[in-house]
Amino acid sequence: MDRRQVGMLFAVWLVASQPLCAQERFRVGSATAEITPPVGWRRAGGFSEVISTGVHDPLYTKAMVLSQGGTALALVSNDLCSVPRELTDAARKLASQETGIPIANIVIVATHTHGGPEYYGPLRDALHARAKKENGGRDPREPIDYASQLVQRWTEVIVRACAARRPASLSIVVPHQVGVAFNRRYLMKDGSTGWNPGRRNPEIFRPLGPVDPELPFLLAKDAESGKAFASLTVFAMHTAISGGAPFGACYPGHLQTHLRRQLDAPELTSLFGEGCAGDVNHVDVSSEQPLDSQSHAEQVGACLAATIAQALPLVRPIAEGQLAVRSATIRSPVRPISAEEYEAAKGLMDNLDRNRAPFLVVVDAWRKMFCHEFWEKHAGRLPQEVQAVRFDRDTALVALPHEVFVELGLAIKSGSPFRTTIVVSLANDLDFYIPTRRAFEEGQYEPTTCPLAAGCGERLVEAALGLLHDLKPE
Ligand SMILES: [Zn+2]
Repeated sequence: MDRRQVGMLFAVWLVASQPLCAQERFRVGSATAEITPPVGWRRAGGFSEVISTGVHDPLYTKAMVLSQGGTALALVSNDLCSVPRELTDAARKLASQETGIPIANIVIVATHTHGGPEYYGPLRDALHARAKKENGGRDPREPIDYASQLVQRWTEVIVRACAARRPASLSIVVPHQVGVAFNRRYLMKDGSTGWNPGRRNPEIFRPLGPVDPELPFLLAKDAESGKAFASLTVFAMHTAISGGAPFGACYPGHLQTHLRRQLDAPELTSLFGEGCAGDVNHVDVSSEQPLDSQSHAEQVGACLAATIAQALPLVRPIAEGQLAVRSATIRSPVRPISAEEYEAAKGLMDNLDRNRAPFLVVVDAWRKMFCHEFWEKHAGRLPQEVQAVRFDRDTALVALPHEVFVELGLAIKSGSPFRTTIVVSLANDLDFYIPTRRAFEEGQYEPTTCPLAAGCGERLVEAALGLLHDLKPE
């Protein structure tokens, strides 16, 4: 090694061990755009045709871009039931070209509100094709190209949030929220698996799984004024409280309203990510009280905001100079499907709501449409992207596709080398369930929706833990 090389090595060491310089401070920006479709569009969240009748509250896409030195991360949260890979891929690519943020560092999630539009996937395709056939090639429920507009809006909010970045401080608090979320799978007294078995059902023996009470809240404040302007809240409970047919953001929408009040931050952009809540919802079977779905959604939003506000004195600042992002794609085996099974499933989907098929038979057909698609497109191995973010040496975030069971999210948290690990589901891809191996054996609704073979959940956990260990500084 000559002198020059030694000098260079020393220079590299100096850069790595230097105290933080100004450009390594966090810079954070946020942006919002409305994505409410025209009233009359189909509503998401079920397995039959539901036509929207109005707007309870508008739907938004919200972006937060965080950067530190040369590393940037874009988080985009959507008041949608799910986001498909084809569209998130397109928006991530466009936004990356315009901002320079690597595609792998862009995370687009759905809040999973069931008050969003049905605009993609087997249910929409079946209803859309039938409507076109019956209306001279036009689907009256879809007067605009909503999917293309979404790609534009997502790109636009990332670009705007990136341009709006300003010096900011980041902090985190992780209170526990108890008494709001419940595991919805039950062992029944006869040994069968119950799914949402009803309030005060005397046949219930016990819940089949846990809940995750953590309510991580990441807050960005303007470095100069100290004003809170953007946040991310994650909670592992289905965003499926609001009933009826109007569009609405459900409890995450109310959460923003109440956080703005509680934090005295009228401009706060509150992003929400559903944690791993595949088997968790808001139904308390021990209570006799039937809920009014609209007012309960508001109560939950208010309750989460109050829990966060109460915990705010305990916030911990996120240390600077350590932001890093990793992404990995695994290929998960798809369940086999024969040509006959596919034809039968397609026939059933084409006649949806008219054939009086039982619920689980429809769900089974819906899943088989995915199986067929994934065998055609991906030769029976679905690519699944897992992303991990290191905010600082104690704090990380994992983003997983689909609707992941709570046990799997908890396994990531307990296996993570970080003291605080936030796990978000429904990232970058559609909303079928990712059950545990055990749940595949127990059966019922969620495993019926899953086009992947048992073990898909454990594989996601393994991939996430690999990224987290990779990111953990010595
Ligand atoms: Zn769901």
